[in-house]
Amino acid sequence: MVKIKRGFEIIKKNGLAYLAIPAFEDTGMVKHCFTSRIGGVSQGIYNSLNTSDDKEDPIENVHRNLELVCEAIGVNYRNLVFSDQTHEDNIRAVTKADLGKGITIPNDITHTDGLMTNIPGIPLITFYADCVPLFFLDKENRAIAVVHSGWKGTVLKIGAKTIRKMMKVYGTNPENCLIGIGPSIEMDCFEVGPEVAEQFIESFGNRPQIIKPLENGKYVVDLWAANKLMLMELGVPEDNITISGFCTKCSEEYFFSYRRDKGRTGSMSAIMELK
Ligand SMILES: [Zn+2]
Repeated sequence: MVKIKRGFEIIKKNGLAYLAIPAFEDTGMVKHCFTSRIGGVSQGIYNSLNTSDDKEDPIENVHRNLELVCEAIGVNYRNLVFSDQTHEDNIRAVTKADLGKGITIPNDITHTDGLMTNIPGIPLITFYADCVPLFFLDKENRAIAVVHSGWKGTVLKIGAKTIRKMMKVYGTNPENCLIGIGPSIEMDCFEVGPEVAEQFIESFGNRPQIIKPLENGKYVVDLWAANKLMLMELGVPEDNITISGFCTKCSEEYFFSYRRDKGRTGSMSAIMELK
């Protein structure tokens, strides 16, 4: 088993609940959160803190929810920069020219599952409902990233690709990076067929920490371990990696889950800004 350093803490504020990574808070360098479904204004299947505008939830509700969350963590929601998640492995270096893209101005950022920046005051946002949120903080060079790593992104090793891009663009040394692996679907809840299992075996080798066969001919995959191990292989110290330990599928009170809700559900988000 891969060691799980728990975890994210649940913060309750203004009727909202959201999660934060203590190791990130301790640096004093970032404002960040992973949202829950608690404390928003959305109704029905989006009850109540849906943060995705890619749904049938009225846009006013989504924007109000984002405003509430950003207010709680001290971020100006009008400055948010949105990803455009397509389960690929593209990561964009975000600059001041991108401020507000997706919220106050149309988003020309396409096919981008990861956002990074070393510029203070730019809040980055990515979206989730079972896929793995990855938070990166290079404490030495003051650079951050938020990255959507679903099963396809994990097979493509978008997390490792993010570190490599931060090394190239920001001079990041993986030894100085803090990582947060956020609420997402846990191994026991993530059953896959042989065609998906094959892709994991091809990408990671047949490692029991990541993939286990079941008696029914299917497999379970540990996306947390897969992401953690790929980052450790690049030199991120194990103690720098915090896994939330929360399964989105099991924790209905706190989270939307694509699998549990059979696709009819809202989205949480990972938000982070460099101070
Ligand atoms: Zn679960």
